[in-house]
Amino acid sequence: MFPIFINDGTTELPKDDIFYVICKEGVYLKKKMGVMESMVPVNNISILESIEATAQMHIPMVPGPMFAKIISFFKAVYKEHRAEAIVLIFYNEDTQKYKIFPPYQKVNYGAVDYNRGISLDGWQMIGDVHSHASMSAFHSGTDDDDEKSFDGLHITIGDNDDDEVSISASIVSNGTRFLIDPLDYIEDLAITVDIDKTEETPTTKYYKWVGGKMIEAKTSTV
Ligand SMILES: [Zn+2]
Repeated sequence: MFPIFINDGTTELPKDDIFYVICKEGVYLKKKMGVMESMVPVNNISILESIEATAQMHIPMVPGPMFAKIISFFKAVYKEHRAEAIVLIFYNEDTQKYKIFPPYQKVNYGAVDYNRGISLDGWQMIGDVHSHASMSAFHSGTDDDDEKSFDGLHITIGDNDDDEVSISASIVSNGTRFLIDPLDYIEDLAITVDIDKTEETPTTKYYKWVGGKMIEAKTSTV
């Protein structure tokens, strides 16, 4: 097994011919073989075990009536302005209570702008819920950008012009997004259609042109 060295700036690098260094830039491999000597970045330490990236929030379920209010707010904003909107989720760890705060915001169909420096005494901001107006719920490139330095729970509500809205929930940590089951974090939620499930059995049909007529094909490439 090759040594793994942590370059903390106080200890000298080992004299070994082959070793890994964990340094500011990531993982490097030192290799000295014959006349060749190098120190190069590698993207893994092959001698170690893998680890799975995970994220979870240690919080109680968001109460159903509270979440229903958020959806009503999004529907009202859509009806009035044909726009998206956002609310911030604050949490008090001592009382285990939530406070939903709609910040002053400028909205349009595809964007929402608000003051990101909001703080409430005694509360920590643990996430947000934003709407996607009449589009479906997903996490867009803009969302990735907005949330890369905002660790916490990020929920999107889409189809705010329909009776049944769509929902996509995630936890973001250090710019990595983990899709989660909204049922694990929101109380009294009923999922009528699970898009992940419908994607397993697609409803799209493909056809090909054979002998002067259309016949059903198994995939789009046939
Ligand atoms: Zn979005």
